[in-house]
Amino acid sequence: MGRITLDKVTKSFGDVEVIPPLDLTIEDGEFTVFVGPSGCGKSTLLRLIAGLEDTTSGHICIDGNDATNVPPAKRGLAMVFQSYALYPHMSVRKNIAFPLRMAKLPQAEIDKRVEAAASVLNLTDYLDRKPGQLSGGQRQRVAIGRAIVREPAAFLFDEPLSNLDAALRVGMRLEISELHKRLETTMIYVTHDQVEAMTMADKIVVLRAGHIEQVGSPLELYKEPRNLFVAGFIGSPR
Ligand code: ADP
Ligand code: MG
Repeated sequence: MGRITLDKVTKSFGDVEVIPPLDLTIEDGEFTVFVGPSGCGKSTLLRLIAGLEDTTSGHICIDGNDATNVPPAKRGLAMVFQSYALYPHMSVRKNIAFPLRMAKLPQAEIDKRVEAAASVLNLTDYLDRKPGQLSGGQRQRVAIGRAIVREPAAFLFDEPLSNLDAALRVGMRLEISELHKRLETTMIYVTHDQVEAMTMADKIVVLRAGHIEQVGSPLELYKEPRNLFVAGFIGSPR
């Protein structure tokens, strides 16, 4: 579960169309990276999929169901934000459990899912700490844990590592790739960093001014960039 299709989706803010009609299919289990320069519409596209922005026109389907007008909490997707958005006064355990408490799951089920997420993310020894007592990488893991417990059809990441220093970023990239292998869940990952795109993606979507320049595997884009913009962005020798 986790196939997402966009059919002639557009988005305007006032008179400004930031996403012209756009078609895209993300296959179940795929790690898809949206890459492109600042302001090209990566976040807007992700927010449209998440339901945090309304489409101006077009349709978004999730697992074959029209989700265009479905509120964000009911789309079965989990967004991991760039700023950790953790509650500073709550323990790691309570931060991770938060969406499940809101959904009023039974306590035993909450405990089970939190323990499982903590184990996957190597946070078991930190469950009783507060976010302020964690490193940047650990805080990012807590944010991911809060997404995992919801058992979403897809994870949506918006530049999740941009607040981390370079060394930590490399480690977290590997961790997220590992997590994808383990969970086999669809992930959409937004970045302006071509190295992240090339190393993490099954499929790269290159965006420019709200439209798709090219879609393909890292190797396809490297070997056969459609134009100089893609070549320049992917760093291929064309
Ligand atoms: P990216 O994430 O690729 O940097 P964004 O999706 O944030 O780009 O922005 C794409 C374009 O849409 C930019 O020109 C930005 O100024 C505009 N934009 C984004 N959000 C809004 C908004 N809420 N109101 C008006 N314009 C917006
Ligand atoms: Mg952005």
